[in-house]
Amino acid sequence: MGYNPLQDLKSAGALLEGHFLLSSGLHSNRYVQCACYLQHPHLAERAGRALAVRLFGSHPHFSVSAVVSPALGGLIIGHEAGRALDVRAMFTERRDGEMTLRRGFSLKPGERVLIVEDVVTTGKSGREVIELVRSLGAEPLAMACIVDRREDRKQDLGLPLVSLVNLDIENWRPELCPLCKAGGEAVKPGSRASTPL
Ligand code: ZN
Repeated sequence: MGYNPLQDLKSAGALLEGHFLLSSGLHSNRYVQCACYLQHPHLAERAGRALAVRLFGSHPHFSVSAVVSPALGGLIIGHEAGRALDVRAMFTERRDGEMTLRRGFSLKPGERVLIVEDVVTTGKSGREVIELVRSLGAEPLAMACIVDRREDRKQDLGLPLVSLVNLDIENWRPELCPLCKAGGEAVKPGSRASTPL
């Protein structure tokens, strides 16, 4: 059977259906927990390989010498993409709210970089990593993620984005949420009352 990343996400229990309170304050009917998927090393490795294949498929001369991912979500898939591309995989962390390259890591001037995330929701952290990489004199070439769940996929992230799965997830402001109107109560993802798809 061919590789079906959506099926893998579902069977790993990484796609939840319910009534969720997101960190943004919005409510939604679905939630993606990539960590549930990436806890299986063989699935994580396969996803990293699939991202590399898609990158070469859409950019035949694709060539980078490093992967940079925002921690914590991007760490495992960034590592696996680095393995598939046979380049080093580094990660960023926030220090006093500011995106920085983890202590001890460095980029050479002009070094070509792939930015890898687990889920792209608004593209905000990806853009911060792009800026960070540029500020260090390196060249971010593209972004890759497992799940692209942006509401508007035509939105310009500043770099081409390759994803394994595109998911349409509805978000509502609490006062407009149909699930609230139906009498339900939104819960934080991962609490009870959320069922795997
Ligand atoms: Zn609601």
